[in-house]
Amino acid sequence: MARTAVSGRLAWRVAYLAEIRQETATARTLVFDAPGWPGHLAGQHVDVRLTAADGYTAQRSYSLAAPSDGDRLELTIQRVPGGEVSEHLTGPYAVGDPVEIRGPIGGWFVWRPTDPAPVLLVAGGSGVVPLMAMIRARRAAGSRALFRLVYSARTPADLFYADELRKPYAGLDVTYVYTRELPDGAAGIPRRLSVATLNTASWPTDFGPTSFVCGPTAFVETVADALLALGHSPHSIRTERFGPSRD
Ligand SMILES: Cc1cc2nc3c(=O)[nH]c(=O)nc-3n(C[C@H](O)[C@H](O)[C@H](O)COP(=O)(O)OP(=O)(O)OC[C@H]3O[C@@H](n4cnc5c(N)ncnc54)[C@H](O)[C@@H]3O)c2cc1C
Repeated sequence: MARTAVSGRLAWRVAYLAEIRQETATARTLVFDAPGWPGHLAGQHVDVRLTAADGYTAQRSYSLAAPSDGDRLELTIQRVPGGEVSEHLTGPYAVGDPVEIRGPIGGWFVWRPTDPAPVLLVAGGSGVVPLMAMIRARRAAGSRALFRLVYSARTPADLFYADELRKPYAGLDVTYVYTRELPDGAAGIPRRLSVATLNTASWPTDFGPTSFVCGPTAFVETVADALLALGHSPHSIRTERFGPSRD
């Protein structure tokens, strides 16, 4: 019985692109209709499989960008130059086109609306995607868990979900770190996320926070090390690595 449930959950299913929202010049949110979708938790991801006319297949993982909503799924894809799958999904892939999806996947890097603990979210680039699903899940559930998001991006133009994050929302604080270019008129210089910034933006350890860190591998490892150095316990830090750092 359990085995049937697991293999059923991880079976490939065909989803159809229903809507495209451009997030930045090189990233877009894809909204799919996935008939029979079993539902998911914020933080989980799916595998996406593309098949060429000659039968060649390519498969990559993408985080779910929004909480469960019937048969609707949202992914946000950053185009990686020369990338086999991301260039297709951010390029010729059009409304009505099919894709194969398998999931939901992941049981550790998840946030449940029943959890009252304060939450620190630390995003590097497209690593904001599963963290945004958590922010949206919190809002949809009316949770009062306190959230802080530290979002590192190259420039203001590279921010995903910029309008949504700009709107004030009770219990959510957002700190931006820009590594290449600051917003017009901002003081200071572009810099990488520092231990000092994390120290200011994170929760005191005696609040018992849970930290979710997501982004390029090197970013995630640096942030996780910094949180440990600031006294956060290893079991309170949950990480998701998207792949190589390109800087
Ligand atoms: C659990 C999980 C969740 C993910 N969620 C998302 C998501 O929500 N949105 C998203 O845009 N991506 C996400 N990714 C990354 C995604 O799976 C692919 O790695 C990415 O889209 C590149 O695939 P590609 O086929 O275009 O590039 P490839 O053809 O695989 O690679 C092309 C070149 O880019 C480099 N490269 C590969 N992956 C990355 C990367 N992630 N960053 C920088 N350079 C890379 C390769 O080393 C190679 O040089 C996630 C990865 C994981 C493991």
